[in-house]
Amino acid sequence: LVKKFGNDLTFDGAKTIIAGQRGLLLSIKNIVNQQKEIERIVGHGWGEVIYEAERKAIKEAVPQIVGVKELDMLLKNSKISKKAIIQNLIGLFNQTGLGLLKLSEFNEKNSYFIVTVENSPIPEEYEKRDAPVCFHLAGIFAGAAEAIFMMPMICKEVKCVSMGHQYCEFKIMKR
Ligand SMILES: [Zn+2]
Repeated sequence: LVKKFGNDLTFDGAKTIIAGQRGLLLSIKNIVNQQKEIERIVGHGWGEVIYEAERKAIKEAVPQIVGVKELDMLLKNSKISKKAIIQNLIGLFNQTGLGLLKLSEFNEKNSYFIVTVENSPIPEEYEKRDAPVCFHLAGIFAGAAEAIFMMPMICKEVKCVSMGHQYCEFKIMKR
């Protein structure tokens, strides 16, 4: 019942399409430079700017990627599991170059899950920090979770490669 998004990356003329969404390739240095400029101008709240931009974009994109009908069925019919949808989205994420995403804990009843990201290139570009820097990913996970759980969700990064951890870890829960 659940669509597989496995190889849904196509180049159509001058258009790159990722799971039905128009996409593009950006260098990691470019992304990190943009983030550091936002930090320089905005100051302490820089992460929230990036987090909110991603959260809103992904919340809109997920129903298009998964299929509005499928998400609607999810709400009414528990036979399609949220976990299966998340696993499919993880398969798609793992083709984007943002690192290796794994679901490490999933609690559907309490609308709570934990993911880890290994080999994430963005925090590797940063000098050592005392706070997480992956607001881009946290926003993606919050937006996807809001689309799938159909309620306001929040994502907090609790471990980050930029802080010296082996991988980044994110907790996603009800807001
Ligand atoms: Zn991180």
